[in-house]
Amino acid sequence: MKKVCVITGGSSGIGLSIVKLFVENNYLVFNLDLSPSPTGADCKSEYRQCDVTNIQQVSEIITDIATHHTIDVLISNAGIHFSANIENTSEDDLDKVFNINVKGAYAAIKAVLPSMKANRNGAILLMASDQALVAKHNSFAYNLSKSALASIAKTTALDYASYNIRANAVCPGTIETPLYHQAIDNYCQKSGADKAAVHLEEEQLQPLQRLGQPEEVAELVLFLASDKAKFITGSLQVIDGGYTAQ
Ligand code: NAD
Repeated sequence: MKKVCVITGGSSGIGLSIVKLFVENNYLVFNLDLSPSPTGADCKSEYRQCDVTNIQQVSEIITDIATHHTIDVLISNAGIHFSANIENTSEDDLDKVFNINVKGAYAAIKAVLPSMKANRNGAILLMASDQALVAKHNSFAYNLSKSALASIAKTTALDYASYNIRANAVCPGTIETPLYHQAIDNYCQKSGADKAAVHLEEEQLQPLQRLGQPEEVAELVLFLASDKAKFITGSLQVIDGGYTAQ
């Protein structure tokens, strides 16, 4: 029987690579995203339109999936980037980042726990960031949200270990996705910098001298979700080309 995985934000970037890899590895994947899953032979997931900031909607969709399937894996991945220091972050900006990045994860985890507890089995992955470990300039709200996700991984791991439910945070460095391109486009628009030059600078900031690819993050997530990682819980798993080792 196929294992079942629920992911948020599986229609683009890292999430899309995770969907593809899990489908390839014989998982039945439910993708909860604002935008539809791309169509294609390699992306056969079940799409449920969902805004993760709508806690009731997340709960209804996950409860419905759990009524018909045993959910083995939850990947809370949906997130947005926001670049500003504390003075330039309005209360609305802070609420928006927190509602999507943190409350979205809270909603999905809370919705999946009753069925995982009943099954005495589950793996929960939270897509945090290297910014759960180190600060970056002009990243007040985003950094705060990703540190919060690391905290959620640890508290959830402790509170649900007795149910055989594991929770871990994945902490990618700079990964080349639409979110990354949008972030540097915004920066170039504001500063007048040249995009190719900024991209090269980003690559040179990494000890491995390149950005990560979403497929590389997906491989780590597949491992952490599997029984091969059954002694790993409450951890922050860094995948950053050496960035946070500096
Ligand atoms: P992306 O923009 O390519 O994909 C994000 C997905 O989340 C999109 O499909 C989008 O529709 C969905 N989404 C956004 N808001 C949503 C909402 N309210 N409800 C439901 N779905 C929503 O971004 P990505 O780079 O693939 O990032 C995925 C995750 O990885 C994010 O949490 C991001 O913070 C994290 N991350 C990214 C990087 C990077 O460098 N790209 C590094 C570290 C962590």
